[in-house]
This record gives sequence, C-alpha cells and structure tokens, in this order.
Amino acid sequence: MLQQDIRVRFAPSPTGPFHIGGARSALFNWLLAKRYNGKFIMRIEDTDLERSTKESEENIKEALQWLGITWDEGTDVGGPYGPYRQTERLDTYRIYTEQLLNEGKAYYCYCSEAELDEERQLQSEKGETPHYGGKCLHLTPEEKADLVAQGRKPTVRFHVQENKQIIFKDMVRDTVTFDSNGVGDFVIVKSDGIPVYNYAVVIDDALMKITHVIRGEEHLSNTPRQIVLYEALGLTPPTFGHISLILGSDRTKMSKRHGATSVEKYRNLGYLPEAIVNFLALLGWSPGGEKEFFSLEELIEEFSMERVAKNPAVFDVDKLNYISAQY
Ligand code: GLU
Repeated sequence: MLQQDIRVRFAPSPTGPFHIGGARSALFNWLLAKRYNGKFIMRIEDTDLERSTKESEENIKEALQWLGITWDEGTDVGGPYGPYRQTERLDTYRIYTEQLLNEGKAYYCYCSEAELDEERQLQSEKGETPHYGGKCLHLTPEEKADLVAQGRKPTVRFHVQENKQIIFKDMVRDTVTFDSNGVGDFVIVKSDGIPVYNYAVVIDDALMKITHVIRGEEHLSNTPRQIVLYEALGLTPPTFGHISLILGSDRTKMSKRHGATSVEKYRNLGYLPEAIVNFLALLGWSPGGEKEFFSLEELIEEFSMERVAKNPAVFDVDKLNYISAQY
C-alpha cells in the first residue's frame, strides 16, 4: 500500500483532559509510522488562546509517553525540528495570508458578530443553510474606508469557488465528495491576527511534509475546507483517513456520562499502559485472526489501515477489563 516515506503527526489542541479518542488517533498514526519506518511528528495546536493551557499540553505529552508513544520530531525536540507549537509559528502563517490576499483568494471581512448572526438567522428562516453571503467580497474602496474609519478590526476570509465538487479518497471511507456551495467563504484569520485551526493545520501539514493524516470522523466536514486551501496555496494535501467515532456501550457518542473518558483517569484507576494500548488498537482496527492480545511490537507488525472499520467503535469497559486481566 505505502511506498513513500511516511510522515504522520499527532496535533492535539491542549484545551482539556486527554481523551481516549485522542489517544487512539495518536496510536493509529504512530503505528502507521512505525510499521513503515516513518516519522511521527508532535505538534501542539494551541491557537485557541483562551482555552489552551500549558498544563493540558504537559498532560498530553506525559500520557503519550506513559503509553509508549514517543515522537521523532516536534514539541521539545531540539535541533532543526521543533518545537512545533502553533503560537510560535504565527510569522509563517502571516506569509501565506499575504499571498492569499495579494492573489485575491482571500479578503478582509469587516462584518461584526451581530451582523453575521443576523444574516444566519435570516437564512435559517428562509430554510437556507446558514452561510456567509459574501458581503465584504464586493466592498467598494469607499465602503471599505468607511468601515476602517469606524475602527472595525477585520478577519481574513477565504473565498471558496462556487459550484465545485471537492473530492478526495479517504483511507477509511473511500471516495468522499462535498459540494463547495455547502462550504461557503470561511474565516482563516481572526480579527486578533490568530489563524483558525483549518488554516494553520494546512500550512503546517504541508511544511512538515506530512504524508498521511489519521484523525477522528468529527473532522470529516473540515476536510473540504482544508482541501480548497491546499489548492489555493499550491500545496499538496496528505492522504486522509477519518476513523469512526467512539460510542459508549449504549451506542451514543462517548461522553462523561459513560464514566471515565480520559487516559489519566484510567491510569489513576491502575490500568497498565500495555492494556490500554491493546484496547485502544482494537477500537476500530480489527486484526486478521483470532488473536486478541498484542504487545506494542506485535501491533506495529500487524497494523494496517485496510483493516480499520468505517462503522463506529464501541467502548466496552468489560472488554478493557478482560484485556487488562492478561497483564
Ligand atoms: N487540533 C485538532 C484536534 O485536536 C487536530 C485535528 C487534526 O488532526 O487535524 O482536534
């Protein structure tokens, strides 16, 4: 399947406890890298300044190390690689924003939150999907000067071409198609100059030469935005693989009410990292034979994206306890 030099990354937002779902994404990426002698890159996506904390970042790094998932490049790695922390890369994003603005592929948007809310409300009332109607794309120089004089701080909005099919081949979901009209012009840089996730992630994945991105299905709807940005910037997208949601035993999306959801909680409950890793690997990936117990080395040998299922994985504590009893 994979002939090129594999470079994957784990790119958590350090905004809270490190969830089981994040640990599973990290593990699948890591296994893919190890299986093919590739590189696993660690990047902290801390552009949400209000919610990101150093404590959460430390917690994620510590949990990964406890699980045995170590990184080859990125955060805290010296030399030519890293640290990779998005707030330390703002100058890089700025260069690409200038490029997009100069080429007319992005524009300043002066609309206030209240105006945007009103627009969305009107669209909903008319039965339309809420989207940005493009008001600031067509501002005359006078209108623009007036808004600037009012002291409005603009966002930068990316212009999405209409009536286009955005198609990509997903390692788990095969061919996925989105209609560009459903995407609409979207903000890439907030009015405080900080890039949003969908924008920074594209520049970073491209500059860090990431070949494969394995992440949760909740990001599937972000992918068309990222693909149009790759195209506009003349950059090559990685191969994506969107792994299924993790459901609780009642088959609803796993959340706090299903009990412990963070790696730390399971660690504190006394589970061994080997048992957690074994259990995480089976959340969506199925080995070929009857074997149920795997060491990290065995997982590296057996793991393949072809055996990652499309349908949701169910978090079954009894199964975790069953696996755990082996260690
Ligand atoms: N920072 C994003 C998150 O934690 C990364 C998503 C991705 O892997 O692209 O959800």
